[in-house]
Amino acid sequence: MSTRTVLSEADIARALTRISHEILESNRGTEGLVILGIPTRGVTLAQRIAANIAEIEPGSAVFAGSLDVTMYRDDLAHTRTRTPGRTSVPASIDGATVVLVDDVLFSGRTIRAALDALNDIGRPRIVRLAALVDRGHRELPIRADFVGKNLPSAYDERINVHLAEHDGDEFVAIESK
Ligand code: 5GP
Ligand code: MG
Repeated sequence: MSTRTVLSEADIARALTRISHEILESNRGTEGLVILGIPTRGVTLAQRIAANIAEIEPGSAVFAGSLDVTMYRDDLAHTRTRTPGRTSVPASIDGATVVLVDDVLFSGRTIRAALDALNDIGRPRIVRLAALVDRGHRELPIRADFVGKNLPSAYDERINVHLAEHDGDEFVAIESK
């Protein structure tokens, strides 16, 4: 087994700052913006992006929350029991621009489930996707609009995403068997 660090703490901060600017640019400001993280680490990333946006555009209201997709997964029957996370949507998503945030984008099945979960809550005008890492191997026609780092990986590799709030340290590493 070998592990290689691909993003440092500073790299992660820069990527999130860039993504925050890209979101603001594509939405032309914060109007109607709702940023929803996929538990667990996606929620932390969503909160950091919202904090960046509040700093870039002082005085604007930035809504950040979480969207649990556990019960919407198409592989629920095949996987080990999952503990549902928390859904907390801080503003109406009807007519909003919802930005989904996750740490790693892989097959795309989590995001497909997230679109189903959103559908039960309301009808956004636009849904976009931000991922800290896109590791490839998509199984569905899903892509990220905002990407921290494209990390083409072997199927059996694993991307380790450590964030201070969860892990006490902060880096992204690629782990090979
Ligand atoms: P997908 O549903 O696209 O196959 O996988 C994405 C979801 O699974 C994300 O919520 C992500 O947290 C997790 N995931 C998939 N592959 C990896 C990986 O290599 N590393 C980490 N940290 N999470 C992964
Ligand atoms: Mg996840």
